[in-house]
Amino acid sequence: MFDSTLLVHAGRDPEAFQGVVNTPVFRASTVLASSIAEWEQRKKERAAEQPGTYYGRHGTPTTHSFEEAMAALEGGHRTLVFPSGLAACAFAILPFVGTGDHVLITDSAYDPTRRLAAGVLKRFGVTTEFYDPLAAEGIEALIKPNTRLIYTESPGSHTFEMQDTARIAEVAHRHGALVAMDNTWATPLYFKPLQHGVDISVQAATKYIVGHSDAMLGTVTVNRALWPQLKSTAYDLGQISSPDDCYLALRGLRTLAVRLKQHWLSGVALAQWLARQPEVECVLHPALPGDPGHEIWQRDFKGASGLFSVVMKPMAADAFAALIDGLELFGIGASWGGYESLVLPIDPAGHRSVTTWPHRGPAFRVHAGLEDMRDLIADLEQGFARLRKLL
Ligand SMILES: *Cc1c(COP(=O)(O)O)cnc(C)c1O
Repeated sequence: MFDSTLLVHAGRDPEAFQGVVNTPVFRASTVLASSIAEWEQRKKERAAEQPGTYYGRHGTPTTHSFEEAMAALEGGHRTLVFPSGLAACAFAILPFVGTGDHVLITDSAYDPTRRLAAGVLKRFGVTTEFYDPLAAEGIEALIKPNTRLIYTESPGSHTFEMQDTARIAEVAHRHGALVAMDNTWATPLYFKPLQHGVDISVQAATKYIVGHSDAMLGTVTVNRALWPQLKSTAYDLGQISSPDDCYLALRGLRTLAVRLKQHWLSGVALAQWLARQPEVECVLHPALPGDPGHEIWQRDFKGASGLFSVVMKPMAADAFAALIDGLELFGIGASWGGYESLVLPIDPAGHRSVTTWPHRGPAFRVHAGLEDMRDLIADLEQGFARLRKLL
């Protein structure tokens, strides 16, 4: 089955819900049984990991529908939903490491993931080393006997370096280490980590899966071998996500294929337009020919999302502010993946430890929303006109 068909049909069971197309929102803590026998049966089903409902903390039909759809899209054994993308990043690592273990994290990782390493992981005796996202084979030299996990994110947050995932996985597995990947940028529609050697696939569903800037969720998908460890650690730490948010994520999934195609096209068009402006030093977008990550993107990915960065030539702060502040259609804000366009000033130099950010000018990240591209470009044109008055 092709993915766009799967997105429409996965995780749905109208017959189980009186013909209703979408799995309804089940809000539940207590779930009653009518007899001791039924209660015992429910407990047995739960122990056997059948998707019955026994207590709200184990999920409801709404959470299970979303997890089932995501597992199908990822091509994994099972998916577990978490209350934010960051929680999913944490649960891509925590269940699989213990005191004395060593973890390698890409230097291009989402900054809160870096904080997790420096805080909680360190406190529990797990050491972290950051590595250059572009060092595929070179990563082997960093692997120690106690390296348990290599964490990847491709393309990198803010800076969009593409990693050679399959080669990293090959090296990791040769040394008995697991590979986790934050695949939020491409979504499993355009890249399926588990098919490229990754063991643990993370998605900040807050972004494109929910797709409408109105809920926060994350997912972790694993193969059969890692499922028990993921599931029991998440259970022990009481992880449960709102059924209302899971409903919104399921609704988002149904239109992901058509939305993402437009984000991709608009993103590339905006990136190309921006790259032509004389005040722009460079655009970081792996789908653009000439981008350092273009070859890997073309080899491994089926498409691109609408998120990329722009580096300006060195200029005064007020000129840069004149470009960004007056934009009408681009909001200034964190997060991305919704239907609306965004810009975000970024400073990657502050979030690096083993690589250096070579640029001196100001930089910003762009999320291409679903507005008409002609309006978006007109908005940017006015921004550059404001900037030019101050140069
Ligand atoms: C936003 C984001 C996250 C975290 O997701 P939240 O839902 O905001 O916690 C993780 N990884 C990447 C790459 C992200 O962009």
